[in-house]
Amino acid sequence: MSISGQLKECQNRILHACEQANRLVSSVVLIAVSKTHPAKSVEAAFNVGQRHFGENYVQECIEKINLLNTHRAEIIWHFIGPLQSNKTKLIAEQVDWVQSVDRLKIAQRLSSQRPTNLVPLQVLVQVNISGETTKSGVQPNETLQMCQEILDLPNLQLRGLMAIPEPGIGSTSLKELHTLFETIQSELGNYKHFDTLSMGMSDDLELAIESGSTMVRIGTAIFGKRDKQ
Ligand SMILES: *Cc1c(COP(=O)(O)O)cnc(C)c1O
Repeated sequence: MSISGQLKECQNRILHACEQANRLVSSVVLIAVSKTHPAKSVEAAFNVGQRHFGENYVQECIEKINLLNTHRAEIIWHFIGPLQSNKTKLIAEQVDWVQSVDRLKIAQRLSSQRPTNLVPLQVLVQVNISGETTKSGVQPNETLQMCQEILDLPNLQLRGLMAIPEPGIGSTSLKELHTLFETIQSELGNYKHFDTLSMGMSDDLELAIESGSTMVRIGTAIFGKRDKQ
């Protein structure tokens, strides 16, 4: 199937999942994860209206942003991969969102390297929810403090939480993350921008939406299988 056909099918899955969960379809943002796929695939999705794109690797991300520079004002680029501190500068300068903030040091560098003529960098704190084998992500009981520290950084705007659960993790962990999200939201009191819970990929988007996700990150179901990870 074509990219536009697969994108349409993905939108239908989201619509259906929202109906099942009694939620407005406008409450879920679709990120098309284009890692390892060429810029022309991004453009194919762009041409049928997709605007949010996610990338995992710094160099590939920057290359694609440059190749698609004519659409720069319209595309919202999300960096969703592991970020080392020596790579933060290009990301701070070039993308719109970083979803994979898992250390205060990374947040501090992103803030100090974000050009002040741009809007603040939108960030999510990556949480390591139970059952994950990866080492990345903040532990749930340390997430609130990390969020509060990020609020003090001038050139970042904290938007919420992100997680990459193991495949087949089940709804309990996803619902735990949703509970953590709501707890932090209320702890942050009158801070109004903590509105995003990024979870859900090609295989589990329905479960994620049922569990309260507001942002799903879909790669394979839109662009097809990847050769490498
Ligand atoms: C690759 C990736 C995705 C997309 O995964 P698919 O299973 O291809 O939909 C989503 N989020 C992150 C962080 C990823 O690395």
